[in-house]
Amino acid sequence: MVDDKMVTHFVCKGGCGGVSPDADLCQAPTCSKFNAPFDPCGCTDGLHGAPPKTEEPEEAAL
Ligand SMILES: [Zn+2]
Ligand SMILES: [Zn+2]
Repeated sequence: MVDDKMVTHFVCKGGCGGVSPDADLCQAPTCSKFNAPFDPCGCTDGLHGAPPKTEEPEEAAL
């Protein structure tokens, strides 16, 4: 079974995609937020605050 409670974790929003269960600093030297503290996140879908999308429109690219 899956816990429905809010899971608080920490994510880096500098572009490296780092995720930690505890408050931590970014460990990626190439990240724009290297050595900056992760931001707390309470998402349960792994999107980390991204707007929920139930439908992805197909974009016709060249
Ligand atoms: Zn980072
Ligand atoms: Zn999250």
